[in-house]
Amino acid sequence: MEFNYFMPTRVIMGGDCVVKNRALLGELGKKALVVSGKNSARINGSYDDVAKALAANGQTHVLFDRVMSNPTVDCACDAAELIRREGCDFVIGIGGGSPMDAAKAAAALALAAVDRAAVHGASYTRALPLVEIPTTAGTGSEVTQYAILTSQSGDLKKSIGSPVLFPRYAFLDPRYMRRLGRETTVNTAIDALSHSIEGMLTPRSSEMSNALARESIAIIAGLFDELVHMKKDDAGRAAASAAALSPEVREKLLLASTLAGMVIAQTGTALVHAMGYELTLEWATDHGRANGLLLGAFLKFVDERERAAGIPPRIPAICAALGAAGNSMTLDEFSRLLDKLLGVREKASCEQIEAWAQKSAATKNAKDAYISVQKSDIIRLFEQSLG
Ligand code: NAP
Ligand code: ZN
Repeated sequence: MEFNYFMPTRVIMGGDCVVKNRALLGELGKKALVVSGKNSARINGSYDDVAKALAANGQTHVLFDRVMSNPTVDCACDAAELIRREGCDFVIGIGGGSPMDAAKAAAALALAAVDRAAVHGASYTRALPLVEIPTTAGTGSEVTQYAILTSQSGDLKKSIGSPVLFPRYAFLDPRYMRRLGRETTVNTAIDALSHSIEGMLTPRSSEMSNALARESIAIIAGLFDELVHMKKDDAGRAAASAAALSPEVREKLLLASTLAGMVIAQTGTALVHAMGYELTLEWATDHGRANGLLLGAFLKFVDERERAAGIPPRIPAICAALGAAGNSMTLDEFSRLLDKLLGVREKASCEQIEAWAQKSAATKNAKDAYISVQKSDIIRLFEQSLG
């Protein structure tokens, strides 16, 4: 057995954990840039808690609340410029993966003289102290060294990665997710599931990352019924109505997504993520939904290849973690479950699939895969998922 586990973020979970642990923030600097999306951080209480904790410490802050979903390079650079202009000396990201990623990138960009066009290619050796506070339970960005940014041209979603992007602290307070609507709850849970499953199917998976992955898959699998039956709120995706999920379920989803983040911090993601980015770029499909649309076909593909090659299979351990009470879930059962969670699937044209497959085949995730994959395989996977 060999592994080299590194995850330097201190993770603190519990109701009111930001205010209770405000002394930790007090050590980070004098003035924070707080990075959030447009609305949710103000509504779910997370921004209030941060503002309260900072004020009680005698620290000031500036709010950058302009992060859109799938944040752009320009957005991260704008936040970095604000850091420099205001003289902020640490960064706090509050929100789903989008604000958390923008906060990470800004913390590094503020200390690097990088042209906007070169953000993806640059290497980052320094970053301001960073704190992340997730308000969705999916991306695990609070414990990873990646920030995923959309290119200036809008045709590429790609990570910047560096150990300096690991947050100093991650504060996990499930109360912020109380009013998260069904669509975001389900899509982000699928994202977390996808991280753990893909993490088990990469060349870098280890006993350590697999242990985290199996646990996080099992936690989410134990909540499949709740997710399937969660009531849709009137606005479809807005968090307008009272949550249908109990605080215990919210807590478990958050734990599972952070565990899944710890998995991809070691392993990276696999082909599903590389392919899913194309759906998000073209259709603005939610990140987690994009993965969910592709995951069932991908698992069957890996299963077929493992059987054909006669190599020690990894799929059975995933099926076992997905099953309840000692029974494995079959891949067909898992696909049917995904169908229930996702509803009617989007349809892609042959031209779209050809173009997406071309781009996906050129990604690191496709080239550096545990099961080797050709463009023709990727076309088939898109067709099976969206045909
Ligand atoms: P998101 O884009 O961060 O947020 C989606 C929506 O949920 C936004 O409208 C947001 O509103 C709202 N929202 C957030 N928290 C809420 C709450 N507590 N209550 C009600 N509404 C809330 O979605 P996400 O799926 O969490 O993040 C996706 C991004 O993360 C993608 O760019 C993906 O590539 C990236 N990602 C990063 C990593 C990594 O390791 N760094 C891993 C996986 C994915 P507001 O805009 O008003 O806040
Ligand atoms: Zn993801």
